[in-house]
Amino acid sequence: MPGKCIFCRIVAGEAPATVVAETEHTVAFLDANPLSPGHTLVVPRDHAERLEDMDEKTAKAVMAELRRLAPAVEVAVDADGLTVGFNDGRAAGQEIPHVHGHIIPRFESDGGGPIHAVLPGGADQDGDAEAIGAAIEAELGDALPTGGE
Ligand code: AMP
Ligand code: ZN
Repeated sequence: MPGKCIFCRIVAGEAPATVVAETEHTVAFLDANPLSPGHTLVVPRDHAERLEDMDEKTAKAVMAELRRLAPAVEVAVDADGLTVGFNDGRAAGQEIPHVHGHIIPRFESDGGGPIHAVLPGGADQDGDAEAIGAAIEAELGDALPTGGE
């Protein structure tokens, strides 16, 4: 790798961050440009750019840590709810090429929207739904683990 990304440097303790939790496979820290107080990022220790680049063990660890942290973040800032999600790929707004799950505290009066607000126009796939569904199924094949135990 030519140089560590900023999140790899945070994981290594080489760049500053307000770290709130560490596990064997993940580090969680406050977002430097928070959308709301307590905006937290959960990253895998091992560099992976897209969700699909994580091995299954790491992916499970990231999900488990999001689940563990979510209620703690919510209570800590007395929020009314959370938006939890990933920008996966540049087209989706991913700026840091190291997987990170956002935990964004939400408040009744914050004026923000739901995840559907990222593409407010929506899409019309009426005639294509079956073909798209079949294409996804076909693409899955045996390429990725099922996640089953
Ligand atoms: P994304 O658009 O999903 O790639 O989001 C990247 C997030 O990382 C943004 O919310 C940034 O504010 C945040 N961020 C960027 N650099 C740092 C940093 N050095 N420490 C903490 N958060 C950061
Ligand atoms: Zn990295």
